[in-house]
Amino acid sequence: MIVTIDGPSGVGKSTATRELAARFGFEYLNTGSMYRAVALAMHRLGVPTSDERAVGAALAGVRVEVPLGRVLLNGADVSGLIRTPEVSRGASEVAVHRAVRLLLVASQRAAAVGRDIVCDGRDQGSFVFPLAECKFFLVADARVRAERRAAELARDGATVSVEDIHRDQETRDHRDTQRDLGPMRPAPDAVVVDTTTLTTAEVVERLENIVLA
Ligand code: C5P
Repeated sequence: MIVTIDGPSGVGKSTATRELAARFGFEYLNTGSMYRAVALAMHRLGVPTSDERAVGAALAGVRVEVPLGRVLLNGADVSGLIRTPEVSRGASEVAVHRAVRLLLVASQRAAAVGRDIVCDGRDQGSFVFPLAECKFFLVADARVRAERRAAELARDGATVSVEDIHRDQETRDHRDTQRDLGPMRPAPDAVVVDTTTLTTAEVVERLENIVLA
């Protein structure tokens, strides 16, 4: 069984996905971390993330794997290095490039073969797994999304203003919805859940009940 959870940043996708996967004993695939790892690779190689041609050429030397919730870049665990605002911006930029999407979409589909899995991202229900049995698209008020992300960063020891995050999220959301291949949008058969006033536990419970229904 494949369950997909899509939506913009700060709607509570990754926590809900991890929690739901744990409840059902399913695997958990956080596809945003794959785009983040590609961005980190480009930063390390000195390749501008907005340069489609250069990113495409450099991709041959980039291997991203996501075993058991960790993110490996060319075999090394980079899970702790991909949550910075700089990597967030880079991930949003590389995610527009067709070569990056084709590469990562192929490995996401391969990861799901023969498995029960919960995947989160932007295009999982609408593009990567159009035949997924259960699809969700989470939404939330923009200000609340920025506040959640600021709190998350603060827990990791970083101080970023809610205004800066809000602006950044708007830019990223715009890029995600405008790209040609796998734009962010709810699949026609996705259940849309507004998480603005819900706790994580309430979101998970709602999704769980829908999956079980
Ligand atoms: O979900 P997260 O914020 O970690 O994703 C980082 C970036 O990767 C997003 O801003 C988005 O541009 C891109 N992404 C994507 N498709 C996905 C997951 C993430 O384009 N399935």
